[in-house]
Amino acid sequence: MLIVMRHGAAQEEVQRVVDVIKDMGYQAQIMPGAQRTAVGLVGNDGRVDASRLEGLPGVQEVIHVSKPYKQVSREWKPEDTVVRLPGGICIGGGDVVAIAGPCSVETEQQIVTAARQVKEAGAVILRGGAFKPRSSPYTFQGLGRPGLALLATARAETGLLICTEAMDADGVAWVAESADIVQLGARNMQNYSLLKAAGRCGKPVLLKRGIAATITELLLSAEYILAEGNRDVILCERGVRSFDTITRNLFDLTAIPVVHKLSHLPIIADPSHGTGLRDQVIPMARAAVAAGADGIMVEVHPDPDHALSDGAQSLYPAQFGQLMREVRVIAEVTGRRMAELAGVGA
Ligand code: PEP
Ligand code: MN
Repeated sequence: MLIVMRHGAAQEEVQRVVDVIKDMGYQAQIMPGAQRTAVGLVGNDGRVDASRLEGLPGVQEVIHVSKPYKQVSREWKPEDTVVRLPGGICIGGGDVVAIAGPCSVETEQQIVTAARQVKEAGAVILRGGAFKPRSSPYTFQGLGRPGLALLATARAETGLLICTEAMDADGVAWVAESADIVQLGARNMQNYSLLKAAGRCGKPVLLKRGIAATITELLLSAEYILAEGNRDVILCERGVRSFDTITRNLFDLTAIPVVHKLSHLPIIADPSHGTGLRDQVIPMARAAVAAGADGIMVEVHPDPDHALSDGAQSLYPAQFGQLMREVRVIAEVTGRRMAELAGVGA
């Protein structure tokens, strides 16, 4: 961290900055310049309270040189994190993982049918929310715990792994009992008590980017989970709010290589919420795999026209089959392959 002093700042003001830095337990290095003096704060472990320095007399600005997050950064751990799931499925290890299923778990028939259909097309993980964070309190809120039981049935019927959302700290324990991956939704990316609970849940966590979150904020939220001892975190780009309403969100493809550069954690892409438009899901899934995503999460419903949530962005099962055929080719072009369940596929 660099504290830049105002032009002509008094010697005493510089000394005051040095004293505060030392008082906080760090070392200070005075760097005199032709125009103005700067003071370097050495030993920043990510916990420095910049506001203590910003308000001091003579200080012009505080520049953050080192990253605010630590354990999620590439500097901390240069090699990629590989999240190992039951059945030998890995996320972040080079294979591209397909997670697919309806937005919400609705009925046993719906979720088991969806599971069979996405498995047939090559998905290895079934998605479907039992607890739904909906923008309106008057829309379908999910089946709750009975929905988790239906996911367990679909898992038993197909062998697919399960990824489903937890909305609060109580829910994390229930979800962690039946899911292979605990999903934390965009609306909860900065729910810090939930992040901490997920950090102690004992299952891999899929953390979705907040609706208006910067990549730095996404990484800081992941840091909360790692700081509790859970290293199995998968990030998910799902689009951010934009000035253009022609798509539901602005799907930020750049986040994929940027996160790979800044962090060792795997990142997958959700082109369903990213675009909100069924027709745009296949091209954006292809683009995400081409950009190096470690997986894709896609909403697929046996009967999208009657879905209780997100029908307009849910693929028909045949479309998902086409998507899988196309992304398989793209994965190969990028030197990877689509993950497969043991005993399934070629
Ligand atoms: C979901 O995956 O069903 C969901 C609610 O997504 P998001 O949190 O990205 O809006
Ligand atoms: Mn949805």
